[in-house]
Order: sequence, then structure tokens, then C-alpha cells
Amino acid sequence: MAGHSIPSVSARIIDGKAIAARVRAEVAREVEDFTGQAPARAPGLATVLVGDDPASAVYVSGKQRASQEVGMTPFDRRLPADASAEQVVAELISLNADPAVSGILLQLPVPEQLDGPALTAIIDPAKDVDGLTPINAGLLSLGRPGLRPATPLGVMELLKDCGLALEGAEAVVVGRSNLFGKPMGQLLLEANATLTICHSRTPNLAEVCARADLLIAAVGRPRLITRDFVKPGAVVIDVGQSRISPQEAGNASGLVGDVDFPNVAEIAAAITPVPGGVGPMTIALLLRNTLQAARSQAGIEQ
Ligand code: NAP
Repeated sequence: MAGHSIPSVSARIIDGKAIAARVRAEVAREVEDFTGQAPARAPGLATVLVGDDPASAVYVSGKQRASQEVGMTPFDRRLPADASAEQVVAELISLNADPAVSGILLQLPVPEQLDGPALTAIIDPAKDVDGLTPINAGLLSLGRPGLRPATPLGVMELLKDCGLALEGAEAVVVGRSNLFGKPMGQLLLEANATLTICHSRTPNLAEVCARADLLIAAVGRPRLITRDFVKPGAVVIDVGQSRISPQEAGNASGLVGDVDFPNVAEIAAAITPVPGGVGPMTIALLLRNTLQAARSQAGIEQ
């Protein structure tokens, strides 16, 4: 009979849209203060998009618009899909040298002929608002201050909001990418969680996940994390974003996460939806990073 019952949500739904709006409003207020101080210039956020991938173009436009909304100056640099590495390097070097540009991000993935990580490494670490250069990744792993990747920072902000005590908590992250899984793990260690990172070669994934007080999924496989993977009362954060048909996804955007939301929401203490969970946090924290970069370039204590 249980298979025929309509699942009932008992988890608290973590409202990423509302929390991101709050962070953006805070950043907007702080940008106003910053812009009134020396060097009397708004923080500048430069995006570099190579090629014409429609999804990347949408992300870049979203970042441009969001930076304008908080009072920053956007710099929109676009290169053709057949751009050479030399062209991209020249663009990044010119942005590194421009004092009006506080933060630079190279939209990934780049076209096949280019090496995304090698190009990212050209960005001045002081302007690396995606936190992906070797210097910033190294500072994070050493537990030293620096610019951190926006999505894991966004997750930390959501966790603060849901009041989970991370110290001593058993945290399991599924996914070990440089973009998300590894920096997420470092931030959780910094917060004194006990950390396990899983990946495609982890045997008994469900069993490992079911130990977690905090389960974070960043895989990109629709609804991989079913109810069996989740300890009742756990906090579940769904970073995954895959696009399927709107009918299958059950929403107009066709976006679906890594977590089987309706069934997991019956037993979790708190859970992020997709869309409207982690997604909106990334841009909000990118804006905060840009302000942080502008302040340190202006010699302002943080
Ligand atoms: P990625 O680089 O493709 O990494 C995926 C990770 O998942 C890898 O570590 C991979 O293991 C692991 N994996 C794949 N299949 C698995 C399986 N069956 N069981 C366990 N682990 C498995 O992806 P990413 O860049 O980290 O992104 C992951 C997801 O998060 C994507 O859906 C992406 O769209 C989303 N995302 C969202 C945001 C946002 O703003 N909301 C930001 C970043 C990412 P191996 O290392 O062994 O291959």
C-alpha cells in the first residue's frame, strides 16, 4: 500500500531564493558604502565568454544583470567559438591590468580547442572571484584566507540559515570536482565536520550516504539519491542541476536535481528544492566575492 500513498513533505524546505535575495540586498548596501569611499569607484565584475553555447550565454547574462542590480559595473567580454588560447590570454591579461575591474570570471566550459584550467590560472588571484586559480585553491586547502568558489560558499550560507551544528556532524559530499566537491569538503572541514567525499568509484554509495547528518549531492544524475540513501532527520542539499522534459521534471524549467525530492522530503529534517535551492545562491556569493576582491584591492580591512 505504501507505494500507492501520496508522499507528504515533513522536511523544512530551505528557500534558496529568499536567502539569496537577502545576501544580494546586503551586498547592494555594502557596495553603496564602498563606492562612496576611496577610490570612489564601484566594484567591477568582468565575465569572459568564449563561443556561443546558449546555456553559458544565459548564465553570463544573469551574472551581468545581477552585478548591475547591486550597483557594480559589469564588463562583458565575448570571444568567438574559434578563439585561440593567445586571444583569451590577451583578454584576461588586459582585465588583470584594468584597475576598474575587481573580479574576473572565465565562463566554463570553454570550447574544445582551449584548456579551461590553464586559462583560469592566468586570472590574477586577487581578482579570481570564482576561486578556481591554483593560488586560491591552495589557500583554501591550507585553511588560509582567499577567494572561495561561490557555490560551496552558497551552501555554507544555506546551512547557517538552517541552524545545523556542523561541528562533529557527519558530512557526506557526493562528487569530487574542483569546481564544487573538493572546495565544499574543505569548507566543511574548516567548520569541524567529519568529512567523507564520494565519487563514481565509491562502493556501497547508499550505505555511506545513509551515515550522513548532512548529505550534499553534486553529481548531475537526476534523482540518484533516493530515500534509501538518507538517514531520517538528515539535512539534504541538492547541488545537481540536470535538464529533462518539463513533464518529467514536474516544473516549467525542466530542471531536476540529484535528489528524489518528494520521497526524501518525507524523512529529511531540511532539504533544498531544485530549482530554487542552491542555484540562486551561486550568483549571490559571486557578488559577495567581487565586493571582497574590490575591498582588498582598495586596502580595506574585511
Ligand atoms: P562534475 O565535474 O561532472 O563532477 C561530478 C562528480 O560526480 C564527479 O566527482 C563524479 O565522480 C561523481 N559521480 C558521477 N557519477 C556518479 C555516481 N553514479 N555515483 C557517485 N558519484 C558519481 O560536475 P560538477 O561541476 O561538480 O557539478 C555537479 C552537478 O552540480 C551538476 O549537475 C552541475 O550542473 C551542478 N552544479 C550546480 C551549480 C549551481 O550553481 N547550482 C554549481 C556547480 C555545479 P568521478 O570524479 O569519479 O568522475
